[in-house]
This record gives sequence, structure tokens and C-alpha cells, in this order.
Amino acid sequence: MIIDGKQISQSLKDAMKIEVDALAEQYGRRPCLMVIIVGNNPASRSYVRGKIKATEYCGFDGHLVELPEDVSEATLLAEIDKLNNDPLVDGILVQLPLPKHISEDKVIAAISAEKDVDGFHPENVARLWLNQHCILPCTPKGIIELLDQAGVEIAGKKAVVIGRSNIVGKPVAKLLLDRNATVTIAHSRTKDLAAVCREADILVAAVGRAKMVTAEYVKPGAAVIDVGINRTEDGKLVGDVDYEAVLPVAGAITPVPGGVGPMTITMLMRNTIECFLNRENKKA
Ligand code: NDP
Repeated sequence: MIIDGKQISQSLKDAMKIEVDALAEQYGRRPCLMVIIVGNNPASRSYVRGKIKATEYCGFDGHLVELPEDVSEATLLAEIDKLNNDPLVDGILVQLPLPKHISEDKVIAAISAEKDVDGFHPENVARLWLNQHCILPCTPKGIIELLDQAGVEIAGKKAVVIGRSNIVGKPVAKLLLDRNATVTIAHSRTKDLAAVCREADILVAAVGRAKMVTAEYVKPGAAVIDVGINRTEDGKLVGDVDYEAVLPVAGAITPVPGGVGPMTITMLMRNTIECFLNRENKKA
């Protein structure tokens, strides 16, 4: 079974569009997402375009704030502060990576935790690991949603996550654990990675190495979630999974493009609505 992230995303966005119209009626305003981009990195520009398009599609307020590559850290922090204090702004996202002269850690921590739609703020990260109410990071949240929508059972299953980054690997592992999977986190020092992966009923690859996961990594019938985004020499977008080789072995698989990627943006929209509701309900 191919898990069609594009189609699942589309139906979730269609539902959110209706929900947002109803919220506008009820609260007299729409959820508002502000996206900040620094510089002209083509990949960042393309991601941001996708986010703005989804924002418009779902009927949110908000827009793109464009800052030049040489903007000072202080100016960026002042811009974030302004948005933190704007009562009409629900979500703030600063597109990463940032130019070297700006501290990403400082920028992430500067965004108000209640408007941190990416779920990267240390307070949200801590809350996730403490099982407290928090804003979940978009890609991990999207992966769980894909598994649920595809009807893949998580509880009681063995899951292997390859990758231990703070934005993908570790939070995916935590969310799978919270759903009662038994989770192994693999990484670049893992010995005999293929054998470790072959144990998995659910295999999540979040590495950033084209076609690294071959058929010998996959237990027959396993669900394979490919988070990787890589460009081949001829410019083609491919994941971490050798899709053609793994497709006949896997029970379910996400393609690249059209799998996890669209879900990440859709979960960003979901998080914006949740931030809006949290803020409105606090007022009540
Ligand atoms: P990082 O570079 O931060 O982490 C990569 C992880 O892969 C590290 O934990 C590293 O191990 C591990 N790794 C590297 N080489 C190997 C290897 N040979 N064997 C086993 N593990 C290895 O990347 P991210 O987590 O930020 O992103 C991972 C991928 O997901 C990238 O392709 C990125 O573009 C993509 N991505 C996609 C998103 C989407 O929306 N679809 C969103 C975010 C990311 P170690 O810790 O030991 O160094």
C-alpha cells in the first residue's frame, strides 16, 4: 500500500478550511500565521512558498516577512518580539536554516512558546518529554497522522527510527513510544543497521542520505516512512529509501515526494489553529 501523503494532506486542509470559516464566525477573526524568511536560499524560499500557499488555502490571516541575508540578529529578534506582542498573531515561524551570523538557538527561544507553531521552543520540547500539553513539532506529528490514516497499528509494534535529530528523529521516537510502540533509535554509530531495521514493524528513515534504506533493511510487510529529502545529481528529489526496491517488500510505504513533506505543512496549519484556540480560550 502506498501511503498518499498528498491526498491525505489535501483532505485535512479541506476540512480545516471549513473549520477556519466557522472559527471566523465564532471569534470574529481568523487564525493568523506569520512566516519570517531571511535571505535568498532557494530551498528555503520554496518551502516558504508552500507554507504561504497552504495558509491562504486554509483561509488564515498572515503573511511573509522578508528580511535581507545581512540582517542583524538584533533586528530579527526585534521583529519576533513585535509579533510576540501582537494580539492578532497566533503563530510565528522563522524558516531555518539562518545565516551563520545569527544564532538559531537564540531565535527559536525568542519566539513566544504559545506562538511556536514549529514546536521547536525549549519549553515545548520539554513539555513533550514530560507528557504535558504542548505544541508538537510538525514532521513527527504528520508521521503519526499518516500512520493513523493508513490504518497502521502502532500499539505493541516494534518501531525503529533511523536518525536522532531534535526536530525529527527524537520527537518521532517519543510520539511512537507514547502510542505504546517499542522503539529503537538508530544513528550513524549503530552496528549492523540493516539487522536492527529488519526487526521493525514500523521503520522511519530520517537521515538525509539518498536511497540508503534498501530491501535488506525491511521486514516483509513493515510500514516504511521515508522522511529524507535528497537531490540526485540530475536534480531529482528522492528520499532515504530506495523506493522501487522496497515497494515490493513493504506492507505500506510513503513516497518522496508526496509523503511526509505535504503532511509537515498540513500539521503547521493544524498547529496554527491549535495556537489560535489556546489563545482565544485563555481570554474566555
Ligand atoms: P540531521 O542531519 O540532523 O540528522 C540525521 C541523522 O541521521 C543523525 O542522527 C545521524 O546520526 C543519522 N545518520 C547519518 N548517517 C547515518 C548512517 N549512515 N546510518 C545511520 N544513521 C545515520 O537531519 P534531520 O533529522 O534534520 O533530517 C533528516 C532528513 O529528513 C533530511 O533529509 C531532511 O531534509 C529531511 N527532513 C524532511 C522533512 C519533511 O518535511 N519531509 C522535515 C525535516 C527534515 P548521528 O546522530 O550519529 O550523526
